[in-house]
Amino acid sequence: MTKAEKMHKAALVELGCMVCRQEFGITDSPVQLHHLRTGGWGKGDYTTLIPLCPEHHSGKTGVHGMGTKAFERRYGSQISFLQMAEGLL
Ligand SMILES: [Zn+2]
Ligand SMILES: [Zn+2]
Repeated sequence: MTKAEKMHKAALVELGCMVCRQEFGITDSPVQLHHLRTGGWGKGDYTTLIPLCPEHHSGKTGVHGMGTKAFERRYGSQISFLQMAEGLL
């Protein structure tokens, strides 16, 4: 892992979960980094990571629990959460 990658990840963790922030105004939930896969070459890099709490990542109301389609219908696109995170960095 490069230094830039490490610093980027640490900064994302500080932001808290993007869904909690949008839905509840909570900005300090514990974070797991979700990898937004945009297709193409298949292997994303660290600039497409979205901070999500364990529930919104893999819980019943999370992107892996619900599936990406249902998740995006409910909360908005993963791209919008990626942009939200970038806007906060
Ligand atoms: Zn959350
Ligand atoms: Zn994930």
